[in-house]
Amino acid sequence: MEKIVVIGANHAGTAALNTVLDNYEGKEVIAFDGNSNISFLGCGMALWIGKQIAGSEGLFYSNKETLESKGAKVHMETRVESVDFENKIVHAVDKDGNKIDQPYDKVILATGSVPVNPNIEGKDLENVQFVKLFQNAQEVIDKVENPEIKKISVVGAGYIGVELAEAFARLGKEVTMIDVADTVLSTYYDEEFTDLMKQNLKDNGIKLAFNETVEKIIGDTKVTAIQTDKNTYEADMVVLAIGFKPNNTLGKDDLELFKNGAYLVNKNQETSVKDVYAVGDCATVYDNSIQDTNYIALATNAVRSGIVAAHNAAGTEIQSAGVQGSNGISIYGLNMVSTGLTLAKAKNLGYDAISTDFSDLQKPGFMETDNPEVKIRIVYDQKTRIVLGAQMASRYDISMGIHMFSLAIQEQVTIEKIALLDIFFLPHFNQPYNYITMAAITAK
Ligand SMILES: Cc1cc2nc3c(=O)[nH]c(=O)nc-3n(C[C@H](O)[C@H](O)[C@H](O)COP(=O)(O)OP(=O)(O)OC[C@H]3O[C@@H](n4cnc5c(N)ncnc54)[C@H](O)[C@@H]3O)c2cc1C
Repeated sequence: MEKIVVIGANHAGTAALNTVLDNYEGKEVIAFDGNSNISFLGCGMALWIGKQIAGSEGLFYSNKETLESKGAKVHMETRVESVDFENKIVHAVDKDGNKIDQPYDKVILATGSVPVNPNIEGKDLENVQFVKLFQNAQEVIDKVENPEIKKISVVGAGYIGVELAEAFARLGKEVTMIDVADTVLSTYYDEEFTDLMKQNLKDNGIKLAFNETVEKIIGDTKVTAIQTDKNTYEADMVVLAIGFKPNNTLGKDDLELFKNGAYLVNKNQETSVKDVYAVGDCATVYDNSIQDTNYIALATNAVRSGIVAAHNAAGTEIQSAGVQGSNGISIYGLNMVSTGLTLAKAKNLGYDAISTDFSDLQKPGFMETDNPEVKIRIVYDQKTRIVLGAQMASRYDISMGIHMFSLAIQEQVTIEKIALLDIFFLPHFNQPYNYITMAAITAK
């Protein structure tokens, strides 16, 4: 029987395993994961910490037993130490020190990412936290239950930092958010949108320390303060949420890598070595918004890439459609969604980019309830007219609208096509001249 081995069984690995197990017969499927749990939805971490959900039970969607009931052999708490790509053997060690030498015909690397661990003095002090694993979330929850943890500094104003800042503030903690950039979420939104989120955080009592570089974390055994190039903030806990880097330990010497170390893959999720696939946070993606290879670590990309790799490994050739970095965030009821390039990023990349903006109520004015403002920006290329990106913000749930822009970028649709798109109207949902049409129609 053909042996398909999957290394790493979180979102990307689990998607690959399920795809082979659900669609193919006559394959021997073997998985390894160093952790004791799989499929932890990190996206629910802040909701769990901030007590917006009852507990962590719903944050898992798979486990060893479920995968094994479908025919896989799953080795948990078993780290793969090395892969012999020439002789096609995976070398692993379980928690008791037992060695496993597992031959393969196809191997799928799904080893994910690890938090960026900055070289800052004091980073090993007690109550300095990384946030990635289920175990990290549990540690944070145990710590914040201690009433002595009153002041929390969150370093990094990306998605995870912002979500955690809200969670801690909901628990009544004094929260300071520190970032070297001058705003929040700058990877995904232009200033007009990040300003909304900044104000939202301030309105909810979160202190913003932007344009500040962390120099050291202060304390004897436990953290007591954090020092930047401009200020010192008292802190009983420091959360480092400054990004993730691909976990490339197993293949870094044998496989071709992207500039940040991710395994370079083609649209079939194939690496530079035959019969070796890479998926999820450890691999590159094809980014349609720049028409080039990129690194975008998101669970959605992980799942799709796992499916693509599994079909290819099992013998059905399929290609990834590429991604646009579509994303969303909801903080104290302010919803923001975006896809593709911001105007600032598009210009930086050398596009002749321009944007068209529009703000309006979600529904006609006569709909007196549940009818907040919506703000939209569409970014496009002035010459080719191709849509490069879109951003939306509202207290209404406007999230579904961004999927259309995701497809538009994937398919290289022009702004004029959006202007004439058949968008239905019903007062319960939207306006006859809705904001998507209006933004596109008023594009220069
Ligand atoms: C707090 C938080 C919130 C997030 N929110 C969102 C969100 O809202 N939306 C979104 O799309 N994404 C979100 N993400 C990102 C998302 O979680 C990741 O993109 C996703 O986990 C990637 O999945 P993966 O399977 O590729 O890698 P990982 O989740 O990193 O899993 C890799 C697995 O490989 C195993 N492994 C690694 N090396 C070895 C080895 N040598 N031997 C055996 N096993 C090994 C690890 O134990 C792990 O189980 C969030 C992330 C965090 C941390």
